[in-house]
Amino acid sequence: MIPLCVPEIRGNEWKYIKECLDTNWVSSAGAFVNRFENEFAKYMNVKNAVVTMNGTSALELALRTLNIGNGDEVIVSSMTFISPVNTIKYVGAEPVFVDVCCDTWVMDADRVEELITPKTKAIIPVHIYGHPVDMDKIMDIANRHNLYVIEDATESLGAEYKGKKVGSIGHISCFSFNGNKLITTGAGGMLVTDDEKLGERAKYLSTQTKTILPNGGFYHEEIGYNFRMPNLLAAMGCAQLENIDEYSSIKRNNANLYNKFLNDVKNITLPVEKEGVKNIYWLYSILVEKDYPISRDELILKLKENGIQSRPFFMPVHKMPSYKKYKTGNMSITDELVQRGINLPSSVGLVVDDIKRICEMIKSYL
Ligand SMILES: *Cc1c(COP(=O)(O)O)cnc(C)c1O
Repeated sequence: MIPLCVPEIRGNEWKYIKECLDTNWVSSAGAFVNRFENEFAKYMNVKNAVVTMNGTSALELALRTLNIGNGDEVIVSSMTFISPVNTIKYVGAEPVFVDVCCDTWVMDADRVEELITPKTKAIIPVHIYGHPVDMDKIMDIANRHNLYVIEDATESLGAEYKGKKVGSIGHISCFSFNGNKLITTGAGGMLVTDDEKLGERAKYLSTQTKTILPNGGFYHEEIGYNFRMPNLLAAMGCAQLENIDEYSSIKRNNANLYNKFLNDVKNITLPVEKEGVKNIYWLYSILVEKDYPISRDELILKLKENGIQSRPFFMPVHKMPSYKKYKTGNMSITDELVQRGINLPSSVGLVVDDIKRICEMIKSYL
């Protein structure tokens, strides 16, 4: 079976985790926690990074750090993993759903402004599958309307927008280190920001707002949260981060191979890379067009029968029972893409022969 996207563990993971076990530093204090934060911040070229238990808690922490809550509206894509939308509800705010672009498949920056109301507090551009949202437009809208921008950069770790790392542009950005992401800690997340005040606030909130008094006692000025990542997982993160540039270039190479083998196939649409951006192709994806001989879902089944795992595009969150009642813009592109999009195997460990076999299968129905 060729899996959709599995971890790549070939660096110092064993060594660093063993160090935690040997020294008894397994919990939420320990040198690897600070080291992972510092090295991730350096990689992103931002001032602060705060580790969290997972990507979802990083997003919740971002909203809480910015004081977004009851009565506020947050503009978010509908074609996304559901996590950012859920966190908007966790803090008591309301999602407002915006359409995506037909070519890049990410939030359509040109459709955001029409959804802004006096209640709007933030925009969450979700950079899905590896292509960045048009951040110049998003930041311009945010600046003119005095809104915060929280990038959900999980799926575009390693991608770039006009020479900047995706996740270094908004006020706060969030990442996940779940097993299927570019780098993994098993479960984990990170909040980053170039604003030191926000960074300090996020760390404070994520560690139960704990202040240690001169006598060693704990004082808590306000309600805090336990979003901490243990040293054991941060150790794995440090090891994974050492290989991130290599993993990024492998992802791009694999995408180039897919593009090469599928280039002449008429009835499918390949992913794009807009000028000035670097797509990281976290999940290499294609659109199965109407004149392709079998349907998208039939292709998924056929691939599965042949030992190849694939997945349809995210179902739109605005169609889920819990989110049907919320405001949306025109969703015509989202509604179209979710019927045609398919993610193909994209592990770092994929080899040329795997990619060839997958592409041959796709061509065999023509
Ligand atoms: C994976 C993912 C998350 C959530 O990450 P967890 O670590 O599973 O909580 C959030 N947003 C996007 C776009 C993701 O792909």
